[in-house]
Amino acid sequence: MGTTFVNNWPGKTSIMGPELMMNIQNHALHAGCEFLPETVVRTDLSKKPFTIWTHRDKELTTDALIIATGSLPKKLNCPGEAEYWGKGVSSCAVCDAALYQDKKVVIIGGGDSAMEYVLALAKYTDHITVIHILDKLTAAPTLTQKILDFPTVKIMYSSTVSEIHGDNNHVTGITVTNQKDQTTTSLSTDGVFLAIGLRPNSGIVQDQLELDNLGYIKVTHNTHTSVDGVFAAGDVTDPRYRQAISSSGSGCMAALDAERYLSTLSLTQK
Ligand SMILES: Cc1cc2nc3c(=O)[nH]c(=O)nc-3n(C[C@H](O)[C@H](O)[C@H](O)COP(=O)(O)OP(=O)(O)OC[C@H]3O[C@@H](n4cnc5c(N)ncnc54)[C@H](O)[C@@H]3O)c2cc1C
Repeated sequence: MGTTFVNNWPGKTSIMGPELMMNIQNHALHAGCEFLPETVVRTDLSKKPFTIWTHRDKELTTDALIIATGSLPKKLNCPGEAEYWGKGVSSCAVCDAALYQDKKVVIIGGGDSAMEYVLALAKYTDHITVIHILDKLTAAPTLTQKILDFPTVKIMYSSTVSEIHGDNNHVTGITVTNQKDQTTTSLSTDGVFLAIGLRPNSGIVQDQLELDNLGYIKVTHNTHTSVDGVFAAGDVTDPRYRQAISSSGSGCMAALDAERYLSTLSLTQK
């Protein structure tokens, strides 16, 4: 819902994010799915049936549960970021790189994701600036060297973006603040890519399911969590692929696994 053009959804050369989501929701409604516009605030997975509570104090019980709460990109929280989100500010270079053919882009971050963003964007443009808060890159050494060898990539160390500017429709530039002496520089750019990390939305199960050290839900056999009958799918389990099609694929696997689990349950209860 929070993006503009999606160019890598199979069967559609290009589709707007909200249109894609409405299509999927309508398809699910057609198949009999019920949607509750509520936020889950608490779960009890210690006994069956499982119980979940929503922010409107609704209590639901269920024999099987699929968690697909996604992840959220970490933000800069600087002026202009919210205003130009999806209008030049993005957290997904693989998704949006093709929109920046021969345009100026900045990538914020210095880890593996930032370096992968460089590789994704370099297929489309030579005007790439990496802005990193530390005085050296923190990505894997081979990846770092590959980026340092790029003749067209500029790197600004010990710096962060303190403001994003635009013309009301799209990003046009940024203010960069040097962390050592607090001096500021203006840079014109068409795109700002945040590669400062993602936070999986696993808070509602953090004390009940096994998570990895970054907070992603641990799964075995693709979708099985540490509690029998609870399945997880999509970005909340996946620090690696993080695409609409990969999360949809794992959602399909979770649905099939939950269905199989429920049929086994009904057989054992007969
Ligand atoms: C700016 C941007 C652009 C992108 N562009 C593309 C693209 O072009 N192509 C592509 O393939 N991928 C793209 N992606 C990545 C893609 O959006 C994700 O990989 C995909 O949406 C993950 O699907 P998901 O179902 O796992 O999670 P999400 O799509 O994040 O869905 C999780 C849902 O769970 C809800 N939720 C979370 N917590 C709770 C709770 N406690 N109670 C109830 N509901 C909850 C959320 O509100 C959300 O609706 C983009 C991502 C971003 C951020």
